Amino acid sequence: MNFNKKNNEIIERTAPSPTGGLHIGHVYSVLTAYENARQNHGLFKLRIEDIDFNRCKLDFEKEIIANLSWLGVSWNGKIMRQRNRKKYYLSAITQLMNEGLLYPCSCTRADIKKVLAAPHPNEKLDQIYPGTCRGRQPTKPIQALRLNIAKAKKIYSKQKLYFIESGHSTNYSLEDRVITMESLENQFGDVIIARSDINTSYNLAVVLDDASQKITHVTRGDDLLAVTPIQVLLQKLLSLPTPIYHHHKLLYDTSGKKISKRSSNETVSSLKAEGISAEEVIHRAFSQSERIIK
Ligand SMILES: [Zn+2]
Repeated sequence: MNFNKKNNEIIERTAPSPTGGLHIGHVYSVLTAYENARQNHGLFKLRIEDIDFNRCKLDFEKEIIANLSWLGVSWNGKIMRQRNRKKYYLSAITQLMNEGLLYPCSCTRADIKKVLAAPHPNEKLDQIYPGTCRGRQPTKPIQALRLNIAKAKKIYSKQKLYFIESGHSTNYSLEDRVITMESLENQFGDVIIARSDINTSYNLAVVLDDASQKITHVTRGDDLLAVTPIQVLLQKLLSLPTPIYHHHKLLYDTSGKKISKRSSNETVSSLKAEGISAEEVIHRAFSQSERIIK
């Protein structure tokens, strides 16, 4: 991989969620990021993404950390844990609130479904939040804080967002690195920035954590490419730097199913228990990836 950033330090990261053990798809992702950092004499950071505390378990966290070490992955500095970062999320939310960029939404899923079920002239708008609570006082318990994307468009003031994508997924072209604010609005609408149960959202937490860990290169699965424009917009609104992104293809098992925590029985722990070496586990992950990239 050549990012043409030889003179600058590369800081990569891995950010597993302790909702299960590491599987072969994670191994591919972690090692891709780790090798990029190593080959460029950069740094590698570890972050535990445990904002969704109902689903995260300390046992999984311990297992993940032990398995990363077993795979030969080491990291620089302290492990960042999202559960310790709540005050930073709150401070960013306050900043966005003060700028009038967020508003409380008291719609339940059922409320939104009902509004969206009504016939709508624009099919695209059937997918996104209809903006019911924008500009009105919440009448029921608040479910979330949403981004007023029209206001964001005014504040950001440019017509386009840019980011560098260095991955080799076929799901994007060069142009996809440029997103017009108009398409962002049509595609996402007023997205949730803080859920009331966790007081943040994945997108907000990731943006703040990447900035705090000074991440220059984000390597992750291309299932996250779709939300990257929202993360880039949040970086602009919060005056944070935008890292270089590298979205890699997700691994699929032999039956053609995407490897996920739910589907995979090939976890690092289970392979380890079978007596398979770390080198072999890594080899399997990368040979599976070659099959899908070709
Ligand atoms: Zn609402």
